[in-house]
Amino acid sequence: VSVEEVVKKQLEIIKSEDEKYNCYITVWEEAAIARAKEVQKLIDEGKLADSSLAGVPIAIKDNICTKGELTTCASKMLSNFKPPYNAEVIERLEAAGAIIIGKANMDEFAMGSTTETSYYGPTKNPRGVEYVPGGSSGGAAAAVAAREAVIALGSDTGGSVRQPCSFCGVTGIKPTYGTVSRYGLIAYASSLDQIGPIANNVADCASVLEVIAGHDAKDSTSVPTQSYQYTKALVDDVKGKKIGIPRGYIGKGLDEEVKASILAAAKVLEEKGATVEEFDLDIVDLAIPAYYVLASAEASSNLSRYDGVKYGYRTSDFEGLGDLYKKTRSEGFGQEVKRRMMIGAFVLSSGYYDAYYNKALRVKALIKEGFDKAFEKYDVILGPTAPTTALKIGENLSDPLKMYLGDIYTVSVNLAGLPAISLPCGEDSKGMPIGLQLIGKPFKEADIIQVAYSYE
Ligand code: GLN
Repeated sequence: VSVEEVVKKQLEIIKSEDEKYNCYITVWEEAAIARAKEVQKLIDEGKLADSSLAGVPIAIKDNICTKGELTTCASKMLSNFKPPYNAEVIERLEAAGAIIIGKANMDEFAMGSTTETSYYGPTKNPRGVEYVPGGSSGGAAAAVAAREAVIALGSDTGGSVRQPCSFCGVTGIKPTYGTVSRYGLIAYASSLDQIGPIANNVADCASVLEVIAGHDAKDSTSVPTQSYQYTKALVDDVKGKKIGIPRGYIGKGLDEEVKASILAAAKVLEEKGATVEEFDLDIVDLAIPAYYVLASAEASSNLSRYDGVKYGYRTSDFEGLGDLYKKTRSEGFGQEVKRRMMIGAFVLSSGYYDAYYNKALRVKALIKEGFDKAFEKYDVILGPTAPTTALKIGENLSDPLKMYLGDIYTVSVNLAGLPAISLPCGEDSKGMPIGLQLIGKPFKEADIIQVAYSYE
């Protein structure tokens, strides 16, 4: 089949399915078909011979900049924003012949765990439309689950790639901080944000990550090149691998069905020759408060640029500059984003800085130390991605604290800058998918890829 046929078929599926699920904010119909023709030409000329992504339709979370095409962050504030440049990951994907098929729905500015805070309405979970797809990369994960894209890119600040993958029954990787360029990723919490791949299996995630990883001088936190041959880790062998399970990850607060699935997955790996052992990693109990202090602080600073002057939404009726700022920001941002900016401004304000922001930074350092120590003993840390399977739409929306607590197993990974993968490991009695999380040493994506691939 030709690339054009593949892309047209993909667009047909989107047309018939997306009314149900709302995975996309923008679908790139004409642009994708035009690209398909170009890519076909390159393939025919033998120019993409060693690219595994040539002609593959990909969905992009709508906080990743695409030149001349809407990039909204699912916010009214950026509902008219067309960036003048591409994110580095977009350049790399296009050079590999991938075809962007559309921009995926998300929680506004990536703040949330359900994709319900989107200005464009919630995405529904393809495994059950009364359930949320998770978030914040809910549109991207749901698109892959609904076959509305072959692969997708999400972003993960505190679990936003892994948790929606867990809820939708697909696979996603949050890379080590510094592995994938953040150039052109609209910032939420810059010290935690990483772009990561979402796909239907471990091998596809590894292929995408191989294309987007690598040093980029345009991102000062990008790490000088290491070896990024992740597909070499697609080996079915866990003999001698040491796997640790933090006791706190399978204790109080974890749904019993999720727990049973996670322990069954650990058993499978043990039977394949890995050693599996439980250990204590108590400091992660403090991960949620530390994360929400730090992420909100960075968000309040990052989002101060949306003022109605430079770009994005501007209120229509104002008197003077102060009024312009106030009205634009009141009208342009949703409730959850405002809540985060207020928390952030508060914890950074003089008098509270030491009590909250500085303390959170210290907890972050302790969490990193805790993981470092664990990794002296283990190659991979295993646990659930989320404490429950997908919630019903509306279930937690009015209770932010409850929503935040759902991030318990994911945020410590971002605070410590580590790589982690979420992959399906079963279903609950309602038929909703359960996600297994594997956490690796810094820059040892290969370890988690190999263990995940062996399990799968
Ligand atoms: N749910 C977390 C939050 O709301 C994580 C979001 C993310 O990773 N972007 O901040």
